[in-house]
Amino acid sequence: MVASVSPLSHPETLPLRSLPSEAPVLVVAPHPDDETLACGGAIAALRAQGLPVSVLVVSDGTRSHPRSRLYPAPRLRQVRQAETLAALARLGVAASQVVFLGLPDGSVPSASLSTSLAQAALAQCQRSLVQVAPRTLFLPYRYDPHRDHRATWSLMQTAIAALPQPPRLIEYPVWDWDPEQRQPLDASYRPWRLDIASFVELKRQAIACYRSQTTDLIHDDPTGFRLSPELIASFLNPWEIFLEPVP
Ligand SMILES: [Zn+2]
Repeated sequence: MVASVSPLSHPETLPLRSLPSEAPVLVVAPHPDDETLACGGAIAALRAQGLPVSVLVVSDGTRSHPRSRLYPAPRLRQVRQAETLAALARLGVAASQVVFLGLPDGSVPSASLSTSLAQAALAQCQRSLVQVAPRTLFLPYRYDPHRDHRATWSLMQTAIAALPQPPRLIEYPVWDWDPEQRQPLDASYRPWRLDIASFVELKRQAIACYRSQTTDLIHDDPTGFRLSPELIASFLNPWEIFLEPVP
C-alpha cells in the first residue's frame, strides 16, 4: 500500500464529477447519521432527479450516551431511528426505504470473524442487498478511523458476492474529516467532489434532525457523544467528497 497525503487536507482542489446515474442506489451507514453527514447532498440530489434511494443503517447507535438514565439503550435506539427517518424525509427518502439492522454500536462485526453475530450480520446485509439490488452502492471508506465503519465496509464488500451484478462502489469518509484522526489516503483510491450547492440548506436541516447528536437533548451523561461544530461544518461544504478504488 502506497500512501499519499489525505485529500481532505485540501478538498477544494479535488476534481468535480457528476451525480451517479445508475439506480437503484443504496446508502449504507454504520451509525444513524453517517448517511446524512457524508451523503446527504448526494441523496437529496438523487431524489430530486427521481432516482430511487434506499438506506441501510447497520448499528443501533446506542453507545453515544451509555450512562444516561433518562435514555437507556431501548429508548435511545428509538430516538435515533426517529431522527434518521426525519432526516431522510427532509432529503426525500420515505421511511419504507430505510432498514435498521440494529447491530451493536461499537461492536459491528467484521465479515472475517467466524462468530455467530458476524455470520448473522452478513446474512442480514446480503438480504438487504438482494432486496434493493443496487446499481450504485455508497459505503463507508475502507480505512475510516472508526472500527464500525471499517467493519461495515467489510460486511458489505463480502455481501456483494450475493448479487448477480456487482454495483458501482462509492466510498465516503467520515472520521478522516477530524484532523486528529486523519490518515493518508490509500493510493489505490481516487477522490472526487460532488457539487451539492443547491442542497446544502436541505442537508443542514437534515443534520439538525439528529438532536441527540448535535444538542444537549440528552443532558444526563457527561461522557455523552456530541458532534463537534467543526466536524459538522466539514459536512456543510457546497460539495461532498467520495473515494473510489482505481479500477
Ligand atoms: Zn459513524
